[in-house]
Amino acid sequence: PDKVKWPYLTSLNAAQLKAVTASPDTPLQILAGPGSGKTRVLTSRVAYLVQHHGFRPHEIVAVTFTNKASNEMKKRLQVLLGAKAADGLVLGTFHATCAKYLRRYGQLIDLPSNFVIADADDCKKIMSTLLKARKDILDESRISLKEGAVLSEISKAKAKEESPDGMAIRAAQDPSSSTSTTAIIAELYMEYELALREANSLDFDDLLVFGLKLFRTAPRVLESCRHILVDEFQDTNTTQYELMKCFAQAHGGVSVVGDPDQSIYGWRSAEVENLNKMTSDFPGVEAIYLEENYRSTGSILSAAHAIVSQDRSRIQKNLYTSHPRSTPVTLKVFSTPVIEASFIATEIKRLIAYSGGVLKYDDFAILLRYNALSRVLESALQKDSIPNRIVGGHKFFERMEIKDLLAYLQLADNPGFTPAFIRVVNTPKRAIGDKSVADLLAAAKSMKISPMELSERIIDGEPLPSGIKSGIKKNLATFVGAVRKIRRAAEKGSSVADLIRLIVEKTGYEEYLRTSQPDFDSRWENVQELVMIQIMLTDAQISYSVTVAEEQARLASGEPVEEGFLPANSAAIEAVVNRAQAEEKVKAQERLHPMFRRQSSGLSASSERSRSRSASKGIPKVAEGEDGVIEVLSSDDEVEAPAKAETGVQKEVKTEITSELVDELANAPENMTPLAFFLQTSMLSTDTESDQDDAYKPKVTITTVHAAKGLEWPVVFIPAVEQGTYPSYRCTEAHEIAEERRLLYVAMTRAQNFLTMSYCQFRMMGGEENDKEASEFVAMMQRHQPNLISTTLPDVDLAVRRYTCKMLERPPPDEDATKEMIRKHVRAAPPLSMWDAPEPRDKWSNRFARREVTKATRAAEYWA
Ligand code: ATP
Ligand code: MG
Repeated sequence: PDKVKWPYLTSLNAAQLKAVTASPDTPLQILAGPGSGKTRVLTSRVAYLVQHHGFRPHEIVAVTFTNKASNEMKKRLQVLLGAKAADGLVLGTFHATCAKYLRRYGQLIDLPSNFVIADADDCKKIMSTLLKARKDILDESRISLKEGAVLSEISKAKAKEESPDGMAIRAAQDPSSSTSTTAIIAELYMEYELALREANSLDFDDLLVFGLKLFRTAPRVLESCRHILVDEFQDTNTTQYELMKCFAQAHGGVSVVGDPDQSIYGWRSAEVENLNKMTSDFPGVEAIYLEENYRSTGSILSAAHAIVSQDRSRIQKNLYTSHPRSTPVTLKVFSTPVIEASFIATEIKRLIAYSGGVLKYDDFAILLRYNALSRVLESALQKDSIPNRIVGGHKFFERMEIKDLLAYLQLADNPGFTPAFIRVVNTPKRAIGDKSVADLLAAAKSMKISPMELSERIIDGEPLPSGIKSGIKKNLATFVGAVRKIRRAAEKGSSVADLIRLIVEKTGYEEYLRTSQPDFDSRWENVQELVMIQIMLTDAQISYSVTVAEEQARLASGEPVEEGFLPANSAAIEAVVNRAQAEEKVKAQERLHPMFRRQSSGLSASSERSRSRSASKGIPKVAEGEDGVIEVLSSDDEVEAPAKAETGVQKEVKTEITSELVDELANAPENMTPLAFFLQTSMLSTDTESDQDDAYKPKVTITTVHAAKGLEWPVVFIPAVEQGTYPSYRCTEAHEIAEERRLLYVAMTRAQNFLTMSYCQFRMMGGEENDKEASEFVAMMQRHQPNLISTTLPDVDLAVRRYTCKMLERPPPDEDATKEMIRKHVRAAPPLSMWDAPEPRDKWSNRFARREVTKATRAAEYWA
């Protein structure tokens, strides 16, 4: 009967249905290979808990591995449950979920609710200061420590809940030679923690550690949680496992899905053992196995299976597909990365043409072992005007200009956040040299206040602390004035877009970029983009609800539900969403403040028009300076009265946890300003991914394999399948190599229809040009199962086209139009033989090789 009421249940196979409808009281473990519908089961189970068992949305906590995955889950649940119910769910990564609870209930463990999330760069800054301070001691004992290495040790400690003391004890007990290093790291760990607390900030790992602390101190805050669901469970670390236990404590409802073959975060302390631990911690665990893969063609699945089964110690699992073999998996070899990249660009265009336009840019993904491989690809795609986006945290929010603006926003939100102070106190240049900054930091430290607060006090006329030169006052005035203006606007609830505009105006940031940066244009474009994304995000929220409402109307009208998770097919929904987003983009363009328009200088007639238009639509007005003319605040500009006192500095709060207090906090309105909300989400998304530019579809995705977990694309390229990359040259031990093999397996199993792997004979690594061979994993497959892999490119004939359409639930292309596309394409593209294997390497001396390479590169460039 449920199936009639909730049609999505009919699109599940028997094992999936069993998992979805299993009693909420039975702890559930769903173990299955890639593409078997684990995530779909998890999503359906959430819907079923609400619809069949009558759970209230806020009683369900669903944890995914990336923000992207949780957004996707949310979109589906909005359709199934309605926007309101879906918004009520506690849905996100462990980090985001903890952050949410800490903002609300943090004061129960004396954590100020305006804490800042420090990103990797901030943490590095802190660590580098600490290392500098003890340089002499380190030199003396001949120990060389890098920030990254120390931070990674600290992160490992936090992943298993080891405190600085704990680490020190471990160091003392460990008789091995590295003892002294561990002891020093333990001290650094202690100081690092203090520095973070002084700056009123938490690093990513802290979110989990403090979350755990909160839930253990005040378990009542989780009392409403009746069920916790965890996706990608094989990659949880010990702290995350403990968090899961906390969530499950009150009512015991827990469902996890995972696949040991896809555990790829061992290097970040993930414990695949958690699967077994769960069996002993939760008596009566029921295990459900899913065996049908719905994602990939038979060829892709067999090749991927061949790779993963090279690990003899692995537990065998069944995984079959009813899709036929279709196009074979391809392996190509090139002489250099440049040629490899132009090949990929050309191949993307070829597949689009031969598929008759069925495949679009966003159907393609290029999966990389590490981020640095993306540069050459990015340029190759750009050269061919193929739109692309790079996921992986090193793009947008890592850029200098974006980080500068963020730093101002962070300071406005939280003056105690010292890394931001250091970053921008002299950006744009205000004649505050390194020495002056160091003096300020030292003075602030001895006064036990933040450097920002000290600067404000100086401006407010308090006597200068010793060691601070009086000349600094004049230079600080512009800085303090700007920060205060931004803070005031933020407190009044100004939108982030307006705040950024204010920063640019009040600090003369544009002029600074223009005069100090040779690539001003692209940097200024990034600033504009940041503003635009902010406007779009706000508006997209509204339009998205409309989309969902439309979809639900369709559902209600009883359109047939067949294959696919969503009624009708998900492509239709995507199309609607894309359309809405495209419209948003146009709207956002219109609303851009003239200052952020491309060729604007002052006010043009058209911008004036669109501005009055947007004003008439009731869009909130900008906070200050309506005229749009950039006025640079000069040093003798008025300095405003201090804003509300007492921000930032850690207050001594000792709170007694009573149930009234918990209730009070639970019911307190979520009064986050737009700024605070923005900072929280943007800082969280820089960890392993950056979703901010998601609105611009369709684009080819370039991402690391790690960030591609759980996702799928019709066409996948895996370049650099080389020895030294898979496995990475850093991995030497057997368990590390096994993880690298699984990484390749995860990469391959992202592909639905077409999978092309490639490697180069030469690649620059660490500044040197290296000879390369195919990855041992692939070489082994080629040796023993040569039939699984082809070295020629797939022929995208009519049969393949039809099958691709069927698999992707898309209408077949118009054959005449396809012919036309192919005709045009074939004229423009190089002959396929152009990409055939280069000369065997042993014939090449290095110099000769390089000459050949140049020739081939030219040829490739000519054709591209
Ligand atoms: P991964 O291990 O990579 O995370 P997964 O097991 O979570 O994979 P899903 O992403 O849930 O797999 O599903 C893979 C694809 O198969 C999705 O496109 C999903 O919609 C589709 N799918 C899952 N179950 C079914 C089904 N019963 N019928 C049709 N399609 C299905
Ligand atoms: Mg999944």
